[in-house]
Amino acid sequence: MAKTKGVGLINCRNYLLETYGQAGYDQVLAALSPEDRSVLQKPIVTAAWVDYGVYLRWMLTADKALGKGDFAVVHEINRYSARKDTGGIYKFLLRIISTETIISNAAGAWRQFYDTGKFAVVVKEHHRFVFEVTEFPDIPLHHDQENSPYLDELLRLCGGRNTKVTHPKCIARGDASCIWEMKWE
Ligand SMILES: [Zn+2]
Repeated sequence: MAKTKGVGLINCRNYLLETYGQAGYDQVLAALSPEDRSVLQKPIVTAAWVDYGVYLRWMLTADKALGKGDFAVVHEINRYSARKDTGGIYKFLLRIISTETIISNAAGAWRQFYDTGKFAVVVKEHHRFVFEVTEFPDIPLHHDQENSPYLDELLRLCGGRNTKVTHPKCIARGDASCIWEMKWE
């Protein structure tokens, strides 16, 4: 399975603890398989590579255990993650650099967050971006429930209004590539 950076898991853990407390956090861990649980119980370092499947199953399990199973909890974890990842100095930069520039660079950061997949910007228009990920054959189903809210939050942080991020094509659903379309005003 592909790997992702530890920073996402640390954000996820912090969000669950801050929002649902230790009891809620433990409830999610208890609902996971022993194999997944053992990965999460080891110390996680921000820059370390961690199994992407474990990370996604963790969020989906939290969504079922603490939410309604409608992905709302997964979305909130990733909005939180986007806010944390763009904290500090980036907050200042977000206000002075154009949204297009930020999104262009943020989207190009795929390699920093995932060890698999080839990223390309397909359309770059005023207030509309389309990008594609290929060469990620085992990308897990529902991975977009993680990526899309993150991108949407990023757009909002850049000052985008009426933001819309969709994932019309997905390798996990049988398409040749994963496609995201981002629009804002
Ligand atoms: Zn996809």
